[in-house]
Amino acid sequence: MKFASRLVNFDPSPLDRFRPMSTPIYQTATFEQEFADSFGEYDYSRSGNPTRKVLEDQIAALENGTRGFCFSSGMAAIATVTRLLQAGDEILADWDLYGGANRLFSKVLGRSGITVRYVDASDPGNIVDQITPATRLIYVESPTNPLLRIIDLKAIAAVAHKLGVLFCVDNSTMSPYLQNPLDLGADIVLHSATKFLCGHSDVTGGALVVNDLKLAEEIYFLQNAEGSALGPFDCFLLLRGLKTLKLRMDAQQRNAETVAQFLSAHPKVQSVYYPGLADHRGFAIQQTQARGGGAVLSFTVGSHEAAKRIAEGSKLFRISVSFGSINSTISIPLRMSHASVPVELRASRSVPEDLLRLSIGIEDLEDQIGDLGHQLDAI
Ligand code: PLP
Repeated sequence: MKFASRLVNFDPSPLDRFRPMSTPIYQTATFEQEFADSFGEYDYSRSGNPTRKVLEDQIAALENGTRGFCFSSGMAAIATVTRLLQAGDEILADWDLYGGANRLFSKVLGRSGITVRYVDASDPGNIVDQITPATRLIYVESPTNPLLRIIDLKAIAAVAHKLGVLFCVDNSTMSPYLQNPLDLGADIVLHSATKFLCGHSDVTGGALVVNDLKLAEEIYFLQNAEGSALGPFDCFLLLRGLKTLKLRMDAQQRNAETVAQFLSAHPKVQSVYYPGLADHRGFAIQQTQARGGGAVLSFTVGSHEAAKRIAEGSKLFRISVSFGSINSTISIPLRMSHASVPVELRASRSVPEDLLRLSIGIEDLEDQIGDLGHQLDAI
């Protein structure tokens, strides 16, 4: 089956004798056991829940993986990946990461004796140069957030595998509809399910998908041991949002392409960062590893004051830290989603203070461009 069919054609409720069309919310913390000395399929929702199982299997299938796991947030999913490491291990991460990932890496992992080094992973040669015997995990987003740089996932997977290092890709900006990192050689694909998987800004969630069964067992162990799994009602909402992923993404990406072209041609805009534009530095690689540039883009307007006026003046683009919703949103990453990047790291990151990030929604394109044009003319 093709992607759109797979989104809606799956068993919504295995073993349910009423054959519901939609997955029931198994809002229960525990399940009665038949025997005192052996468990049934489910015993306790932290360990397993039928609503979550349907969602985890569906996300795994969409990412072409064998096992999926859903967490209470994207950050909980990231934290779980870092739990695969131990004291003395090192993470090699691309420097352009979501601010919360930076915060976890820089301010929390040190407590467990794990070190993180940042590299420019858009040149795989830097990974080769920087890898050490202590490196256990390579961690990237592609496109990166908020600069929309493209990482050559196949090239990095090849390096990682040669040296026996785990490779994790945060696929939140693309979704499984536009990119499947496991197919390109990644070991773990990660999502802030809060973004495109959900699509409606009504769930905070995270997901991990893997192919390797031993890795899956380790992740399952951690999900249960740390109690970080997503609750049944949120799983239900995610399952519901996920069904329209292709419809939403097609509309959002189509709009984003035209918005990017409009901004590129506008005299008040200095630079546009969108991997769907042919003059984007990573365009050729993006063409080979993904199915479009997505619906997130950034641009600069010369000063923080101008960026602030545009964000605060917008009528249709709402100021919000997140992305991936059916509503268009606007943000100043340096002051919002990336404000948690530790000061010492911020200096070495080249996220401009006049950078505005847009997440393009499903509204009428004319309204989106009209609003942006109006704000740009006013600065
Ligand atoms: N990864 C990316 C690319 C993000 O943008 C975010 C949040 O904005 C996260 C991970 C963390 O996800 P969550 O906010 O669901 O914890």
